[in-house]
Amino acid sequence: MNNPFIELGIRHDIVNAITELGFENPTPIQEQSIPVLLTGSNDFVGLAQTGTGKTAAFGLPLLELLDFEENYPQALVLCPTRELCLQITNDLKNYSKNLKNANVVAVYGGASISDQLRQIKRGVQIVVATPGRMLDILDRKAIDFSQVQYVVLDEADEMLNMGFQEDIDSILSNTPEDKKTWLFSATMPAEVRRISKKYMTDPYELTMGTKNTGNANIEHEYYIVRARDKYAAFKRIVDFNPEIFGIVFCRTKIETQEIAESLVKDGYNADALHGDLSQQQRDKVMKRYRERSLQLLIATDVAARGIDVNDVTHVINYSLPDEIENYTHRSGRTARAGKSGVSISIVNSKEIGKIRQIERVIGKKFIKGEIPTGFDVCEKQLFGLIHKVHNVEVNEQQIEQYLPRIMDEFADLSKEDVIKRFASIEFNSFLEYYKNAPDLNVPEDTRASRDGGEKFPRTGNRSDFTRLFINLGSVDGFSRGDILGYFCNQTGISGRTIGKIDVKGVYSFIEVANGDVDTAFNAFKSVENHGRQVRIEISADGDRVSNRGEGRGSFAGGSNYRSGRREGGGGFRGNSDRNNNGGGFRDFSGKRREDRGERRKKY
Ligand code: AMP
Repeated sequence: MNNPFIELGIRHDIVNAITELGFENPTPIQEQSIPVLLTGSNDFVGLAQTGTGKTAAFGLPLLELLDFEENYPQALVLCPTRELCLQITNDLKNYSKNLKNANVVAVYGGASISDQLRQIKRGVQIVVATPGRMLDILDRKAIDFSQVQYVVLDEADEMLNMGFQEDIDSILSNTPEDKKTWLFSATMPAEVRRISKKYMTDPYELTMGTKNTGNANIEHEYYIVRARDKYAAFKRIVDFNPEIFGIVFCRTKIETQEIAESLVKDGYNADALHGDLSQQQRDKVMKRYRERSLQLLIATDVAARGIDVNDVTHVINYSLPDEIENYTHRSGRTARAGKSGVSISIVNSKEIGKIRQIERVIGKKFIKGEIPTGFDVCEKQLFGLIHKVHNVEVNEQQIEQYLPRIMDEFADLSKEDVIKRFASIEFNSFLEYYKNAPDLNVPEDTRASRDGGEKFPRTGNRSDFTRLFINLGSVDGFSRGDILGYFCNQTGISGRTIGKIDVKGVYSFIEVANGDVDTAFNAFKSVENHGRQVRIEISADGDRVSNRGEGRGSFAGGSNYRSGRREGGGGFRGNSDRNNNGGGFRDFSGKRREDRGERRKKY
């Protein structure tokens, strides 16, 4: 069977190059835009998120359409940031590596202009540029755009946000009237609509998903906390997600710097990215982030524009953006190339209205999250550690020589004791840190009274809900969205009628409308997940539901969990020996360490 890119009309030399990059099948936007753009006869508007493969969607047709025997600029790609400019240039160079005499030059501020001028002079067919530096070079009359046939405006909404409208006008006035313009934008605010009208005639319009809609693979969550608890809540979320590789957005450079400094002091791998850093400093931070020496990148909107790093697991809105449109750009930094991701917003109760506005713009509901309790964090970390132990690759050859001595050292301990001690090594310090950790969630009542009436369905009238326990949780690989999807699939209950979902380590809670309780019980009579019987029960955690226990037997296991946690006695291991140090939650307590940074660095 032919390669699908060949079938779309891309030549072998290019297909060979992109195959090496791992492109086996076109992404949806590539599938739909390549045939249109290859005709070379249309203006084009593509509404698509970053991370959908749009660089190749316009890049591959460009490479097919240009004449590489000629050495003058035939295509101009304008984009908002230096990072994106370098990214696009690099991508185009990779796609065209088997094409003779194909030259792509990156033109951007903050780097030597003479190098860029030299490259232009040598001969180039594709110029990828940020508007400011491009205009500078045009003003110097150092480039001739009179034979440009294609102009790509990438991330057009970002360029307008950044105030490049006039620069774009001036640059385009240097290009021929009959060129074709291809515009890509993640969102379609009125300004982008206006420029598409201004620069294009009857463009072919392609919308991937709904207008302004974010990537479907992104789960949006919000957490309500008091302003003064924001940093502590943020750290809890991070601790609850030990594998996090995230971008944290702040509103100002100062906030960015402060958060990054506090995080470093507290032992996290974090650094700031903002406009007050020199280009060199920014490059250094980005290099560390790409290499994953940094786990958290704390950035302003402007500095983070165009960042293309795959596998970002979480975007955290430490502060909501001033402009709603920016929310889509922020969240688009995760869930790239078909992966999934989470976009978290930490807000105070006055900001709930903004969440509702964002929901309307992106056409997607947020899931309301509860800041994990100290216990939740400890449990998550513990099982993270247990999984690590389970999956560690043993170097049999190296360890073999030490085994007799190790066995000897443990001779007086039972297998259970050894396991307990290994688990406790790192777990103890988390317990220590979180032992008196307060609940950081804003109480429901306070929230409701300030909420201005408008209610998200999941937090609607709570007396209408019954809180169910389900014996699946994060250790089974379930996120809130997964639980929601799984539960609705099994029961046929609509996701819109589901209330709050709390995912714990080995279990979760899910609120269902009272009228759906029987349906749920019937649906889970004989359901298995990976060979384990899935159980649901009415939660006995009465203080969380207003209609607790109504006529149904309470859940013994759930009750143990909860009372165990509150009293600090029972612990998560139901069969623990309370007299034995290490058996229960309370028993791990020790002297609290002042130096949190030292504690945290261990992880
Ligand atoms: P972009 O939206 O162009 O920034 O692309 C996002 C990511 O998806 C980049 O890392 C690309 O290399 C990758 N990508 C683009 N097209 C494909 C494809 N057809 N198959 C696999 N990966 C792709």
